[in-house]
Amino acid sequence: MIPPIHHDHGIVTLDADYLRPGLAAIHLVIQDGHAAIVDTGTNQSVPMVLAELRGLGIPREAVDYVIVTHVHLDHAGAAGALLQNCPNARLVVHPKGTRHMIDPAKLVAGSIAVYGHENFLALYGEIVPVPAERAIEAEDGHQIDFRGRTLTFLDTPGHARHHFCIHDALSNSLFTGDSFGLSYREFDVAGKPFVFPTTTPVQFEPEALHATVDRLVATGARAAFLTHYSRIEGLAGIAPALHEMIDEFVDLTRAAPGEDQARHDWLKDRMESTLLGRLRAHGCTLEDSVCMELLANDVELNTQGLLVWRDRG
Ligand SMILES: [Zn+2]
Repeated sequence: MIPPIHHDHGIVTLDADYLRPGLAAIHLVIQDGHAAIVDTGTNQSVPMVLAELRGLGIPREAVDYVIVTHVHLDHAGAAGALLQNCPNARLVVHPKGTRHMIDPAKLVAGSIAVYGHENFLALYGEIVPVPAERAIEAEDGHQIDFRGRTLTFLDTPGHARHHFCIHDALSNSLFTGDSFGLSYREFDVAGKPFVFPTTTPVQFEPEALHATVDRLVATGARAAFLTHYSRIEGLAGIAPALHEMIDEFVDLTRAAPGEDQARHDWLKDRMESTLLGRLRAHGCTLEDSVCMELLANDVELNTQGLLVWRDRG
């Protein structure tokens, strides 16, 4: 597990230790002795989150909000459990995600279909439903006054239709979930991040994702906190590569020959070489095998998501 990273303006990155250290983050926003939690990790992370809050002198009663950028389980899997532990917290969720938080049965079934029952339980445990009266649905433009600190919610489809991003006025930064790509700190070269898009199943929509990337840049935010993983700067400079890669992935998917496993393997192979080529151009000197290990999970999920998109027509 990577130790907590303390940023300016009371923002803290915690490592959810999901799949590997440094893959998935949980962010705390601390204001006047109160906390908002942005993305929750899985149930396995709950004791760590509560311990970190305690260490920061924040009692469970002073957690005001549990905010989920979208309802994929690496982001929202612990929302119900955190609400059980934090009696005054409200859940903030995209209107298209609310019903899945209140009744997670469909979300769980979808995930079991991908991972199998045993893996699902090992990864996520029992998903705790969120009481409907504790959920706040944040439409596009919704604002929350968090102890004098304005949080603005932006509808950001493309990765998933139930995805929003949060703009924090105090730090002029964004919590982007999976909307502004993924960026593992292992790929940093001279402090510069390598950022690539995620096209995870089942709601990847390239047009919407292009528009979302532009909209996030247009906020003028100084930095983005990515769930995978932590803080990056220079959004306007990063966006062109994200756009290019979205188009490249889409072109490859359209060109993918064959069917079923053969088509999947072809696309996965091309995505690996595309990302490796870009990592080399970025100046990354890690060995191929190390890069591929760090990217393996995303290459697989991206491939699946792109093929789901293509088959939807
Ligand atoms: Zn994610």
